[in-house]
Amino acid sequence: MRSVDAIIVGASLAGAATAKRLVDAGFETIIIDKKALPRHKICSGILSPRGYRFLLENFGPLPRETLHDPTWCRGVTFHFPSMVSMSMDFFGGTTPHLHRKYADYWAVKRSQAEIHDQTSFVGLTQQNDKIIVTTRRPDGEEVQYTTRYLIGADGPSSHVTRAIYPDYPKQIPWFFVGQKFHDIIDCPLDHEYFHFWFHPNLGHYTWSHARDGRQIVGVGFKKGDNFNKKHQNVVNYLTDKHHVKLQPATELEGCAENFGPSLINRYVFGKGNVLITGQAAGFLNMIGEGMSCALHSGAIAGEAIIEAKVRNRSVQDIYRQMIVSEVRRTTDQWNPLKIIFAKPHEADFPAALMALSWKERRLVVRDILRFVMLYKEFKWGRQIARASMERLLHARYLGKRWL
Ligand SMILES: Cc1cc2nc3c(=O)[nH]c(=O)nc-3n(C[C@H](O)[C@H](O)[C@H](O)COP(=O)(O)OP(=O)(O)OC[C@H]3O[C@@H](n4cnc5c(N)ncnc54)[C@H](O)[C@@H]3O)c2cc1C
Repeated sequence: MRSVDAIIVGASLAGAATAKRLVDAGFETIIIDKKALPRHKICSGILSPRGYRFLLENFGPLPRETLHDPTWCRGVTFHFPSMVSMSMDFFGGTTPHLHRKYADYWAVKRSQAEIHDQTSFVGLTQQNDKIIVTTRRPDGEEVQYTTRYLIGADGPSSHVTRAIYPDYPKQIPWFFVGQKFHDIIDCPLDHEYFHFWFHPNLGHYTWSHARDGRQIVGVGFKKGDNFNKKHQNVVNYLTDKHHVKLQPATELEGCAENFGPSLINRYVFGKGNVLITGQAAGFLNMIGEGMSCALHSGAIAGEAIIEAKVRNRSVQDIYRQMIVSEVRRTTDQWNPLKIIFAKPHEADFPAALMALSWKERRLVVRDILRFVMLYKEFKWGRQIARASMERLLHARYLGKRWL
């Protein structure tokens, strides 16, 4: 059985960032991924400026194959049922439109960790200070490893989280996001922006943007709703209201999402020497931007392991202290007090709002409040208010509700 210092589950951005820190510190590190690499990842690929800086500083300039066309994104345009639209440019210029299949693989390779693809995490057992990790290969063969540290960077439906908290998936609401690809007949939506609709009749999360000569139309909704119906409703709306003319879809994809933990400060960071990071831990910024917090939280997981080894201290304690900064950044994006009185996002929403007429501002605020009511059934309101008060009183979000 192979014995290493660290096994990372998930050859994605969180995994690459953890691996980079560990390999740089001399840890023998293996990244496993269930898929054959480079693998497809459903994602719009709009990287925030902070995420872009992280990639540049840690992995270097991005090769052309890591980008889609258009290669850059200027910012986000919000659309409202009252037909007001607000375009906001990202702070610090345009950001790359990542082709996740190649960008993730590039970052993982640049970390210089050993990569074992087509290797699915199946389970773990603790043996003294070691963890025995069981994996499965596509032919059904079981392969085991021993490791001192195990990092779950395996995304929203994390199997590593399930291995240590089997009931966790039942404790949070699950959403489905799906997108279809259309050839374009005519599309007046500015292709340099990511477009998002605050429209309760369209879905919990409705977006569109250009990619490689086609238009993506996506919609997010509660588990159990009908994707095709929801999607067609959005396409009809884009045709009626925005004069977008698209061919029938040629391709579709979707997945389950753990949207919610970052809104209510209910992150999952693991147990003992098992750390959970990236979206598996619950990190997701406003408008579903999860790459920058995946990169940063992944790096913090790696730094916590190094610190724990050097100081011979509990890695969970150190990780939970160090991750406070990333929790603050992410949860601030959902904190109403921060949204009103500070600028937690990487585009200037208050300035865009103030550029509107008084009448338009009133309509936008009304439309946002109506949109937010769509989430009422999840009973997050009181939890968000509590987290906001904590932030006000302690200048941080407390860790009492983390797993
Ligand atoms: C439709 C859609 C659009 C999005 N658009 C954007 C966007 O424009 N900008 C943005 O910043 N974010 C976006 N996101 C969110 C972003 O994709 C995620 O937040 C981000 O990829 C999380 O990174 P991660 O490294 O934590 O995990 P992931 O990227 O989810 O990667 C997890 C990895 O773990 C592997 N894995 C899973 N289970 C196992 C297992 N049992 N064994 C071994 N390997 C396993 C997977 O194959 C995968 O490679 C979008 C998400 C969706 C669904």
